[in-house]
Amino acid sequence: MQNNSAEIPIQHAKGIGPGRARLFACLGIRTVGDAFYYIPHRYDDRSHLKPLNLLDPGSAETVSGTVISMDEKRRRNGNFHIFEIVLHDGSGYLKVKWFNQPYIRRNFKLGQTVVVSGMVKKNTFDMPPVEMDSPEYEIVTDDGDSMIHTKRIVPVYGLTAGISQKQFRKLMFSIIMDHAAGIQDPLPARTISKNGLAGLAESVLQLHFPTHADDMKELNSGSSRYHRRLIFDELFMFELGLAVMKSAEGRAKGISFRSQGRLRNTLLKLLPFRLTPAQQRVLEEIERDMKAPHPMNRLLQGDVGCGKTVIALLAMIEAVESGFQAALMAPTGILAEQHFMIIHNLIGRLGLKTLLLTSGTEKHAEICGADIIIGTHALIQEKVVFRRLGLVVIDEQHKFGVVQRALLRKKGSSAPDLLVMTATPIPRSLAHTIYGDLDCSVINELPLNRKPSLTRWIEASKKDEIYAILKRELGKGRQAYVVYPAIEESEKMDLKSAAQGKTAFERRFPEFRVGLLHGRMKAEERTTVMALFKKGEVDILVSTTVIEVGVDVPNATVMLIVHAERFGLSQLHQLRGRVGRGTDESHCILIAYHPLGEDARRRLKIMVQTSDGFRIAEEDLGIRGQGEFFGTRQSGLPELRHANVVRDAALLEAAKAEAFSLIAEDPELKESPFLKKQLDVFWKGRVDLFSTG
Ligand code: ADP
Ligand code: MG
Repeated sequence: MQNNSAEIPIQHAKGIGPGRARLFACLGIRTVGDAFYYIPHRYDDRSHLKPLNLLDPGSAETVSGTVISMDEKRRRNGNFHIFEIVLHDGSGYLKVKWFNQPYIRRNFKLGQTVVVSGMVKKNTFDMPPVEMDSPEYEIVTDDGDSMIHTKRIVPVYGLTAGISQKQFRKLMFSIIMDHAAGIQDPLPARTISKNGLAGLAESVLQLHFPTHADDMKELNSGSSRYHRRLIFDELFMFELGLAVMKSAEGRAKGISFRSQGRLRNTLLKLLPFRLTPAQQRVLEEIERDMKAPHPMNRLLQGDVGCGKTVIALLAMIEAVESGFQAALMAPTGILAEQHFMIIHNLIGRLGLKTLLLTSGTEKHAEICGADIIIGTHALIQEKVVFRRLGLVVIDEQHKFGVVQRALLRKKGSSAPDLLVMTATPIPRSLAHTIYGDLDCSVINELPLNRKPSLTRWIEASKKDEIYAILKRELGKGRQAYVVYPAIEESEKMDLKSAAQGKTAFERRFPEFRVGLLHGRMKAEERTTVMALFKKGEVDILVSTTVIEVGVDVPNATVMLIVHAERFGLSQLHQLRGRVGRGTDESHCILIAYHPLGEDARRRLKIMVQTSDGFRIAEEDLGIRGQGEFFGTRQSGLPELRHANVVRDAALLEAAKAEAFSLIAEDPELKESPFLKKQLDVFWKGRVDLFSTG
């Protein structure tokens, strides 16, 4: 096999000792390959720098000149320090100033050549006519490297303390020149030509030390064909991992459930409603998968309140009728308990046993004796052992990740079927690429009898309006949620805390019962409060976001969100989804406090405009950007450093098509050992791709 330069440890590169290697590590560069992918954040065209006599105030420029004078000034009792130099380039002069950085003078000497980048300003005090304040600068005394730092397009890198731009650029220059030619390209030649991609070695060279001035604009905007090549690679690796998982699971031997639908039909008769056509359709899709000899891998998407729980339950009792156990994992204890209560009530009547597993201290015998086991993360603890796990359901999948999914699944003796449910935290346009390893079912309608909730955005000052709505609803025997962002008063942020809110509501509505729920309460206390609210023995539930997902109390018709400006869009949508679950009209009231940022305003506006979860997800992604959108979710997916799934949607499609067709031909990448190795590196520490089969 060809020697691959990318794997060389960075300290073996020329000029890099242990100290430098540590600095590089701070930047995430541990190998020569990491350096290849450490892309400059900007390029300066120094191939023809503007003569100083042509500088216009008001424009950003990079120019160079010789230091012909240096001066230090102190003002106001020595508290204010200015260091200034004058640069000359034969054509004209430029004054450059730094304020209150006295140490900076040590970096300059008369006669040096200096490159500065910054805004050109009019010099109103003296001569010369133009100046720059606190520019980025680089000293380029001629030590034989001038061709790296001047008279060309130069890269400007993001740096860490302890190394100058010039030193770093010089090291990068030798790394790239010594090693880029030895890059082994993991992509199949066919993929490269079909998608018109630039070569990998060429891309790395051009991204670090560009040779074509024509490329400048695209390079600086990150849209050059060399950037595209890196982006494609990243997306390809991402999709390839999903393709491998999907293919392995598709080939694995799974369970063919043999139920006759006896329990399912009994349960359907017990339900107080009939399934919607959309629910029926997805249930059929799920049952078809369960009967097939391969493990099911299905994503059930559907907006908040569309009725996913009952579908999960129906699938679970199919598994039970076939002699297997089913497990349901929820992201919070409150939600797990709620699922348990609902399911326990319903299927107790069918003579089945349900177990709520909260801490993992339950006895082995209990777990083995249960038909349906419901819990939180506790389910994936090592000590939890099932008797015969056949179906795994994960609720609110976006709160978990690929890794937890794989862990729970491993609890089955043979590969259990998997159903993951989510209320569209991901725009539809992305779902099939991000969850590319799952088949997708969508419940695209709400039960018929629903009235959409009325959403209002009310200024905190208009308290009376808010209280009037509350009073009217409570008077009709309905219940209300009041949600606060924090549980304790934080002086700095001046947040109204849930605990204080409770007192305030008790005073304001003495005739109604107020309950409090927050994350720091003991589990039993939370259970008690929740149970009272469910039974209608608490009218107003003041809480933090612990009720964000899943909670289902149809008699609650008011959702009042205090400091709504502090919540994220998908959080607001989830919270609103707690009401509008019965047949009565319901109200979502967003109370916003000033000052309101631009993003907060956008979020609140969207909430008032639409209740379509898909649209909200699109907007959310647009506001937050993908880093936040995916990163904070512990998604377990590899981090994308170059690609942006929204901006690069077309490349993502292309990469997906290539990845899936390659895996269809060669499921275990036997023909592409190098690609296979790279793929393992890309997914490392997340999913063991080639052993999950
Ligand atoms: P989600 O999809 O958000 O998890 P749930 O499963 O909690 O929604 O269902 C929301 C509410 O709708 C529950 O009270 C549930 O009993 C009810 N529900 C589910 N399906 C139907 C239906 N077909 N007709 C009427 N109500 C339904
Ligand atoms: Mg739910």
